[in-house]
Amino acid sequence: MLRRLWQRGMIGLACSPAARRLMQGSRAGRALSKRYNGGETAAEAVASAEHLLSQGLRASLFYLGEYVNTRQLVDLNVREITGVAAALAPSAADAHVSVDPTQIGHGVDANLTWPHARAVAECLAAIPARPGRLSLMMIDMEDHGLVDPTIALHDGLRAEGLPVGLTVQAYLRRTEEDLARQIRAGAAVRLVKGAFIAGPDVSFTTQSAIKANYRKLMAMMLSAEARQAGFYPIIATHDDRMQDEAVALARKNVWQPHEYEFEMLKGVRGDVAARLAARGERVRLYLPFGVDWFPYAMRRIGENPRNAMLLARSMVS
Ligand SMILES: Cc1cc2nc3c(=O)[nH]c(=O)nc-3n(C[C@H](O)[C@H](O)[C@H](O)COP(=O)(O)OP(=O)(O)OC[C@H]3O[C@@H](n4cnc5c(N)ncnc54)[C@H](O)[C@@H]3O)c2cc1C
Repeated sequence: MLRRLWQRGMIGLACSPAARRLMQGSRAGRALSKRYNGGETAAEAVASAEHLLSQGLRASLFYLGEYVNTRQLVDLNVREITGVAAALAPSAADAHVSVDPTQIGHGVDANLTWPHARAVAECLAAIPARPGRLSLMMIDMEDHGLVDPTIALHDGLRAEGLPVGLTVQAYLRRTEEDLARQIRAGAAVRLVKGAFIAGPDVSFTTQSAIKANYRKLMAMMLSAEARQAGFYPIIATHDDRMQDEAVALARKNVWQPHEYEFEMLKGVRGDVAARLAARGERVRLYLPFGVDWFPYAMRRIGENPRNAMLLARSMVS
């Protein structure tokens, strides 16, 4: 209950233009942003992704431009996102590009989302194939009301032969059914717990119920049937016990380490990511870039109240 209240408060703060202006202009705020960010520009982000690869880690680049409410800001986001996707072609990095539907227009005019998403995916499709490198446009999942249009977007672009992946959230009751369909279709799916809040009619509302559902969905993703269908599982959690369970499932069902992957956020449990990679697992870090970092950082703090200490420390140091 308290956790949900905290999370709701941080999501509210993430949407506040006044708090955003105050923090993004401050020295303390900039110090906080460094923890999570891969740089301010597309070139810095690609360089960070290349650096990660030298440490045995892959990347998923995410342009920081959330909660946009004008066509002008949407256009700017699309320019930056297609720019970074194009910049990946000549680089050595092995990177996905993550995209929020609202970031590329869904909240301003839903008709914009498809052509914008298609433009990003086409840039990634143009990257020359290299063994072991996967250039997907990963579609992030936002609040419950956006699930249907987000799945339709993913399925439509995939039907066009574009390299796309979908994020699904264990906190939603509907996900089991959504996931079963994606497994049968042999899609690439990233499983997360969910950074949003919804009512008990559509969601699990306790941490234990969300974790139990995460386990159930993970078992579906790493089943022998999913492997036969050509499905690509992406297990996105910082919970090392859950990761161990995923590895055990993968071994039992004879998945090879390059046939699935783990994904974590930059700045969160880097030691766990390094250990997992050292065990031969494929590990990707979500790497935001840009200057508009405040909403993203607030969502991370909402997920983990202990991160509020980081915020407090960065403000007094
Ligand atoms: C790659 C990636 C992509 C994501 N994309 C989406 C998306 O599209 N839509 C969506 O709703 N959510 C997304 N999320 C967020 C996700 O839904 C969870 O809110 C978040 O990952 C926390 O759950 P967990 O399973 O990682 O960790 P928990 O079970 O919450 O915690 C496990 C351990 O990790 C630590 N930990 C977890 N989170 C943090 C943090 N932020 N800072 C410090 N320590 C932490 C905890 O203290 C604990 O020790 C994404 C997460 C990742 C890793």
